[in-house]
Amino acid sequence: MPKQKRPQCLKCKNLALSRGLCRDHYAKAYYLIRSGINTEQELVESGELLPSRGRGRRPANPELLEDNPTKSELRSLVALLKRVLIKIEKKLKEKGGGNIKIT
Ligand SMILES: [Zn+2]
Repeated sequence: MPKQKRPQCLKCKNLALSRGLCRDHYAKAYYLIRSGINTEQELVESGELLPSRGRGRRPANPELLEDNPTKSELRSLVALLKRVLIKIEKKLKEKGGGNIKIT
């Protein structure tokens, strides 16, 4: 069985899963960014996190770092959400929920 070269975490011997970090270190980086201790940019600049491979600048929201949905994926997601919201709105109206309007 040929030995495949697998990316290794920048901080330990574990397999790198995302942005050059293993799951644990990635989770820690997430935590630092989320809690505002470091920005994503700071971590990238200090070599603790690999820059994202996506095109252009991405928002420093950790939730958005992992996925890079295409425009059509986003559009179908938005369409789906709208349908769900319309259903919720109808239900609320049926129940006399008053002026809850979701736009
Ligand atoms: Zn690690």
